[in-house]
Amino acid sequence: MSLLAYVETYGCQMNVADTEIVLGLLLGAGYERTHDPAAADVILINTCAVREKAVERVWGRASTLATYKAKRPKVVLGITGCMAEHLRGQVRARAPFVDLVVGPDGYRRLLAHIEEARAGAKIDDTTLDPHETYQGLDPARDASGTVVGHIAVQRGCDRFCAFCVVPYTRGRERGTDPDEVLRQARALVAAGGKEVRLLGQTVTSYRNGNVGFAALLRELAGIDGLARIRFMSPYPLGFSEDVIAAMAASAKICKHVHLPLQSASDTVLARMRRGYSFAQYRELVGALRAALPGVAITTDVLVGFCGESEQEFAEILRALQELRFDNAFTFAYSERPDTLAARTMADDVPADVKQRRLAQVIDLQRQITGEIHAAQVGRCERVLLEAPSRRSPDELLGRTDTFRSVIVPAGASAALGALVDVRIERANPATLFGSLIT
Ligand code: SF4
Repeated sequence: MSLLAYVETYGCQMNVADTEIVLGLLLGAGYERTHDPAAADVILINTCAVREKAVERVWGRASTLATYKAKRPKVVLGITGCMAEHLRGQVRARAPFVDLVVGPDGYRRLLAHIEEARAGAKIDDTTLDPHETYQGLDPARDASGTVVGHIAVQRGCDRFCAFCVVPYTRGRERGTDPDEVLRQARALVAAGGKEVRLLGQTVTSYRNGNVGFAALLRELAGIDGLARIRFMSPYPLGFSEDVIAAMAASAKICKHVHLPLQSASDTVLARMRRGYSFAQYRELVGALRAALPGVAITTDVLVGFCGESEQEFAEILRALQELRFDNAFTFAYSERPDTLAARTMADDVPADVKQRRLAQVIDLQRQITGEIHAAQVGRCERVLLEAPSRRSPDELLGRTDTFRSVIVPAGASAALGALVDVRIERANPATLFGSLIT
């Protein structure tokens, strides 16, 4: 009988893609996936260290999942990913029951580590490898994941923003061999996939030899059967005219750009070491909107960074009103150990002020997104049906080219993986609801 593996994932799309790689390794070695941790022989928590809240949640989950190990001592419990890398010294002290601590560059050795752990060893593998691009490691695609596949085309980050742990947990930037990216994209299409999502921390800075990101996009756009190409997340610096031209030239490249702003105050941006001013950011938004009519631009906003004054915060609100993003992921700053901010700046915005500012940006963005969504009602949109709807078995969740979620009734011509024309009937700030145009 096959051994059963259970993997729980936290954090960003990169971590989702890493879980697919870990599952690819496990399934390739004869494991079966289970969604029931009580039945699993191997339990892995693929973690995120970017925010304090996520880290606290993982400590709690590790204790809960350890109860299954207490009942069946042969069960292997592992912490993988960014938190394993970042807090490696603390894991043994806080969670001595954990068998495996494996950072993002240790997945190639994961199967051997699990075997050793099953024999009773405690394993720590948190070495960063500047050459590891996961070449040849094929992700597992489950039934609902076959329509859309992630490919991590770039690993690591060279930017060292003052608040961020990623350069410490994932090492320096390296681009996956373009032939490997194309191979994985073709494999996705052969398995029934329709959309590829290219992932990288600063994805538009992708480079491998002479191949840059624009050239990679053009190569991918030539793959027959691949309907859509998305990428996330670009950095506001290094988003070249060539990339914008490649996006404009192919209908397959989705007209959606997730462009993290973080702050709109130049003094905060300088303290964050973001390397751009708000004027530069605004200019890029203008260039994208001019070259790509109808493009949706979403963003990340971080409030309450070290020393953020009321005036500096007010600049964020003004920027949201001016640029009218389609949507925004909003966060309150939490100090992460080892970062420049943690080492040299005081986390001095009181917690209640951070929460009030966060609520203000959430409210404002929700209003803007609601207005943008309301303006979609009556329009016809091409929608890729990606997954079953969580609301009802009779509905499917799809996305527009601009990454808006659309709920449509399931039916003979509306099956998973279909690209359908939909009339938008109603909307709220989170979702559009439509009917098929037959
Ligand atoms: S660009 Fe900045 S925020 Fe993004 S991963 Fe790199 S260091 Fe972190």
